[in-house]
Amino acid sequence: MKKIGVYICHCGTNIAATVDCNELVHFSSTLPGVKVTRDYRYLCSDPGQDLIKKDIRELSIDRVVVAACSPQMHEMTFRNALSEEGLNPYLLHIANIREQCSWVHKDREKATEKAKHILQAAVGRVSHHEALEARRVKISPSVLIVGAGIAGIQAALTIVYGGSKVFLVEKAPYIGGHMAQLDKTFPTLDCASCIFTPKTVEVVRNKNIQLLICSEVVNIKGYVGNFIVTIKKHPTYVDPSRCTGCGECMEACVLKREVLSEFEEGMALRRAIYIPFPQAVPLKAVVDKKSCLFLTKGKCKKACAEACKACAIDFDQKEELIEKEVGSIIIATGYDLFDPHLLPQYGYGIYENVITNLQFERLASPSGPTEGEILLKDGTVPKAIAFLHCIGSRDENANLYCSRVCCMASMKQAHLAKEKTGAEIYEFYIDINAFGKGYQEFYKRVREEGIFFIRGKGSEIFRRDGRLVVAAEDTLLGTPVEIPVDLVVLGTGLVSRHDSEKVAQVMGISLSPDGFFMEAHPKLRPVSTNVDGIFLAGCCQGPKDIPDTVAQASAAAAEVMSLATKGQIEVEPTIAWIDSELCAGCKLCIEVCPYSAIEFLDVKGISVVNEPLCKGCGACTAICPNKAARQNHFTQGQVLAEVEGVVG
Ligand SMILES: Cc1cc2nc3c(=O)[nH]c(=O)nc-3n(C[C@H](O)[C@H](O)[C@H](O)COP(=O)(O)OP(=O)(O)OC[C@H]3O[C@@H](n4cnc5c(N)ncnc54)[C@H](O)[C@@H]3O)c2cc1C
Repeated sequence: MKKIGVYICHCGTNIAATVDCNELVHFSSTLPGVKVTRDYRYLCSDPGQDLIKKDIRELSIDRVVVAACSPQMHEMTFRNALSEEGLNPYLLHIANIREQCSWVHKDREKATEKAKHILQAAVGRVSHHEALEARRVKISPSVLIVGAGIAGIQAALTIVYGGSKVFLVEKAPYIGGHMAQLDKTFPTLDCASCIFTPKTVEVVRNKNIQLLICSEVVNIKGYVGNFIVTIKKHPTYVDPSRCTGCGECMEACVLKREVLSEFEEGMALRRAIYIPFPQAVPLKAVVDKKSCLFLTKGKCKKACAEACKACAIDFDQKEELIEKEVGSIIIATGYDLFDPHLLPQYGYGIYENVITNLQFERLASPSGPTEGEILLKDGTVPKAIAFLHCIGSRDENANLYCSRVCCMASMKQAHLAKEKTGAEIYEFYIDINAFGKGYQEFYKRVREEGIFFIRGKGSEIFRRDGRLVVAAEDTLLGTPVEIPVDLVVLGTGLVSRHDSEKVAQVMGISLSPDGFFMEAHPKLRPVSTNVDGIFLAGCCQGPKDIPDTVAQASAAAAEVMSLATKGQIEVEPTIAWIDSELCAGCKLCIEVCPYSAIEFLDVKGISVVNEPLCKGCGACTAICPNKAARQNHFTQGQVLAEVEGVVG
């Protein structure tokens, strides 16, 4: 006969105020198999756990039911208590009489009755529990980082300083992401590239970082500690070991500046072979295969190759698939800017002097198309400039969320515009989000510089008498306003990347309703994902400024390092398995598994569970028509015993 110990927690008054704990003690002592029943104010406390441990030692209790809060809170605490006394931790069951009973009921009598049912079910279930053993798997110390913006770079450097190797995969031909496009950074007005280039240079210099530009991850197999990733490296048609970045190939390119430069946000032209910007890291030319006349039409005589003294041009380069084994992965793929074409009332793409905030960054940058002068399309200096906040954010017609950085970016740009042009500057805002350290002070400083703040969202841009007019309602004065200006800068918000669904699919991670990657828990696990060993850093998880991005990247790096230093991890034994004798090979389990944890063995014609990937959700066991998919800790006998409250 099983010797079951039942322990009832009052949880202060959380349980005891609604459930009669004395009555529960009396009731449980009448249940078959129950050797001892006790109640305590806080069972999760050390003295509470000691009660259980003492009974295991002295009364040889071999099964434990704890009637308390949700197992999410303290299942681990009590499992550890059992282990410490040499009892298998899976011979425990938690009866949730708080979240599922005392917190959701008012009537003490009825709540006590319900608690009795929950307790009886738990006693029935635990009597059928079996001892389970966790498996250990080794962890490869190497790390894959996807995206080399400031988030990816920060994470990569932190990890290599900790002694691990990093494969840094970047889609673009250069590293730095959006930060490389910025002029100055709020609120300190540091020059972005001055604080940034020491890090980018270190990435290329550090022997433990293997940088793969023009590359993307196309497949992932395996599980935490042992991922096999396949990286597709697109040809650049330039041998980076030979290219000196001299730029002579660009001069020779017969396609004379016909392609809009992506880095300059379409405000300058580039050639088919190009270096994205003068401080690009790595400073290597790349060929754009979509515009190269040789690659598209075979019409060019490879003038770039002739001009290259280092013989670096190589039109024979092919796409490569590279496999790497890594223990963990950090996704740092950043954001896209909201497309203002979607809100035609703001005239973007219609009026040439309506630009986005990122385009303004390039105008203000000394390395940008106007060498840092704020000029209109006709080359003249604007006399009045309007900055419109919340374009594509906090807007029911676009995105409901706040993009967090645009208020500060708009005020930074207003300051720079005032300094560089002396123009009249107007900020149209809903309310100012100055949330970071030194941000409110910066807002005050900008106000004192004579910039006009109009509280009201710009509603429309139109043209009158050769000038642009911003229409809005000044909500402080309660009147409509129309302000004529020469340049309008749209405070376009941050959105999830256009390819985030594809990345999520490859990685097996989830997206939040706003399209950004979803964290495992918004407060307690903000850099983890639903896949063990895959972490998030920077704006791919949601809009944020550079300090928050860097902090999050460091946190993701710390998670990775803590895994790497452990060397091995325990794999939960409460997972599914497939009875090969019963499996008919219908693959329904593979279709429903949200963790891609089931594989099909073609040779045997059956499915098998990849144990470290399985999270024990039970989807496969529910769908399997042959009852071949089973789950440890959720056997038919255990579940039926729980439903019927029958001790076995
Ligand atoms: C106009 C404007 C001004 C701003 N000014 C400031 C400021 O002054 N101060 C401040 O604190 N913040 C500012 N910000 C915010 C700042 O841009 C972000 O905080 C920062 O760039 C986020 O970095 P990230 O690495 O997360 O993303 P990103 O900079 O977007 O970098 C992501 C990187 O991942 C790469 N990538 C994407 N997908 C893949 C893939 N599938 N495979 C491989 N690589 C991939 C991209 O090419 C890119 O290099 C501003 C933002 C805007 C829009």
